Amino acid sequence: MIVFNQKMQFDNLIKNGFEKYPNFRDLTILAKEWFFIDKLDENSIKSQLFSFCVEKVTTFNEENIRKLIQKVMKKLKVTDKYTEIPEKLTFFKEEVEQISKIINKEWQKIIFIFCCLSKLRKSDGIYLNSQNSMKLSDIFDLCGIKKTKKEQEFYLYELNKANLLTVDLKPLLKYHPVCLRKEGEIALEITPSCDMISELLKINGTPIIKCLRCGKEVFKTNNRVKYCPECARIIHIEKTMESKKKKNSCI
Ligand SMILES: [Zn+2]
Repeated sequence: MIVFNQKMQFDNLIKNGFEKYPNFRDLTILAKEWFFIDKLDENSIKSQLFSFCVEKVTTFNEENIRKLIQKVMKKLKVTDKYTEIPEKLTFFKEEVEQISKIINKEWQKIIFIFCCLSKLRKSDGIYLNSQNSMKLSDIFDLCGIKKTKKEQEFYLYELNKANLLTVDLKPLLKYHPVCLRKEGEIALEITPSCDMISELLKINGTPIIKCLRCGKEVFKTNNRVKYCPECARIIHIEKTMESKKKKNSCI
């Protein structure tokens, strides 16, 4: 799972504990909240992290947890900001052009998500499957593409062969979307969320119309689209009510 909202993940951790076992990412989220928001000192954070693990996990290796907490504290010292996740991800014209040129729609989705996640990390690429990063399956989940692990790996191999994605093998596996740029003319701004893939429609030139009821911009994915999803729902309810009334007045 990729965290788009640290505060939400913090609340979720406090409420539900770790997904499986204490990990670097979740411990860092706890530590940051306690450090930047609650202004606790280092020693208090360390002991809070440890008691949190004791409370939430039934069996664990104390030495490993202490080492992990040490690592988290080290990172905390070099982090100067609370929020690392940008509010908007900016796509440049050249990137949009490169992405829209990809004919295979599944490849296009994957490259787009690689770009989004790289921008989210303010990096030129993303690490996969290392301890504190995301998993390959996260990428496919975000794309809405269901594939087995083997198939997912084969996709990466093919994208690499097509020169859409380059790979660093050392020191850690890192993937770079080739179309990624550092600067340029801004073409698109999107909000990081689990639904970034719907933003790909903009890149693909799906026509945008204004909702006939509220004026909000909606994608005209087919000829019947006249309203935004919210208004479409309201209008549907209104119509059903009306026809019911008519029926009743006839009786
Ligand atoms: Zn509307």
